[in-house]
Formats: sequence, C-alpha cells, structure tokens
Amino acid sequence: MNRMFRPSVPLLPRSNVFPRFSLASRTMHIQSIPMWTGKGNNYAYLVIDEPTRDAVIIDPANPPEVVPVLDAQIKAGKINLTALVNTHHHWDHAGGNNEMLKTFGKLQVIGGSNCQAVTTTPKHDETFKIGERITVTALHTPCHTQDSICYFMQDGDQRVVFTGDTLFIAGCGRFFEGNAKEMHVALNEILASLPDDTKVYPGHEYTKANVKFCLSVSQSEAIQRLAAFAEQNRETQGKFTIGDEKLHNVFMRVQDPEIQQATGHKDPVEVMAALREMKNAM
Ligand SMILES: [Zn+2]
Repeated sequence: MNRMFRPSVPLLPRSNVFPRFSLASRTMHIQSIPMWTGKGNNYAYLVIDEPTRDAVIIDPANPPEVVPVLDAQIKAGKINLTALVNTHHHWDHAGGNNEMLKTFGKLQVIGGSNCQAVTTTPKHDETFKIGERITVTALHTPCHTQDSICYFMQDGDQRVVFTGDTLFIAGCGRFFEGNAKEMHVALNEILASLPDDTKVYPGHEYTKANVKFCLSVSQSEAIQRLAAFAEQNRETQGKFTIGDEKLHNVFMRVQDPEIQQATGHKDPVEVMAALREMKNAM
C-alpha cells in the first residue's frame, strides 16, 4: 500500500519542447492516511500546496495514526500545517480535533458548526485558499449530518472533492440528520454539477459493500467494471471521478429507468428514499 505521495503530473520542462501544451508543472499533493486500526476504515487526507508547502489535514479522527505521519513531514520541512478541516461533526471524523490541537498547537479548525473545536465554518459556495495555488470551495451538503460540508479543490487543471460521509464511491451516507430530498440535492444537484473529471476522496473505504448493493439493483457495465476493480484494490479513493459516479453509483442514477423500475418509483426523491432503505436492509 503506497502511503507516500501519490504520483502527480510529471515535472516536464516548461519549454519549447511541447509548445502546444500549457502544462501546470506543479499540482497539489494529496496523501491518503488510512486509519484502519482506528475507528473503522476511515481516511484522513493531507493536502499540500506545492509552492508554499502550506498543508491542511482533513478528518484526522485517530491522532495516533495521523500524528507520526505529519510529525515526520513537519520535521523534514516538507509541510507547514495550517489547519484541520472536517467534513462533518461525527466522532470518527472530527473527534480527534482536541488532541490534534494539543499536539500541533493553535491551528485553524475549518468545518461544520458542530465539529469539535471548530473556529471557522465557511458558507455554502464560499472559497478560501491553501497556500498560493489551491482554491477550495465549501459545498454544504446537509443530510448525513446537518453540518456536512464537501470541499472541492482546484490547482490548475487538477480537481478533487473531499466528500466525507455524503458521497462514497458507489454509495452515499446514511440519512442520520436529513432526508431523501436533501441527499438528492447533495448528490444530484450540488456534487453532480462539479466538472466530470473531479476525483472523489470519500471519508471511508466502503466500495466493496457499496458495489455489491449496486449490483443487486443493476448489472450495468460500469457497475461490473467497478466490482472488478474493488476485488483487486483495497483502496479506491481518488481513483474515480464525479463522471464515474454518475455511471456506477445508483444513488446518482435516480433518473435512470432501470433504477426507477428496480425501486418501483419514478420521482427522483422517492427513488433516493427507496434505494437508501434497500441498502439499509441489506
Ligand atoms: Zn458520519
């Protein structure tokens, strides 16, 4: 399992060799920190702005697994940790904040209003920067919790979204504090309007179970492809895009006649509600 930086766009000389392309020579680094021994198949994500080394850590719920990774990079001068970022208030996402602050000192805590030790709650569609190049847009997606926020980040042509427990690869979070209408808006209006090439980084590794459910609803080629991938790969974060989700995630196909038929509903919100109940019962 590669716990080092995932490969970024190769550093090609900005030159005359490829005059047709204006390649961004630097991109944000995203390091996944799986917390398998912690609170259950969660991911923390370290996002680094290359030129300044300013960095944020997303959902560092289990500090014993996250602190050593950050510590080593801080000591090596590789990152300048500026903030904790939370996708929602649940303990397996925001429950490590106090301990992280004890370890790293006073940092900004960006997250929903109910997150532990939160200092800043961005408004829906509000943008902020990490370092020089990364622009973050906060997308409020209430349903799993009312304070759920997805973070869309852009650095040059590289686009990613951190979706917490709102959108998983081929699935979505439970409707703990919301309803099917809200999840429909979150997935099929807000997240679906991001560029199709946006890579998805969810809060948990649930793909295997999710794809099993998707297969019980539809055997489409896209779903079968994902099933094969999930068989071979323990980690699926950052491997699929919003465009892929629109194909293999049944919760993002509430307008698809096949899915409508499988649920016995036509109205997208009713299809969403039925899918969630079917998944809960599985
Ligand atoms: Zn949650």
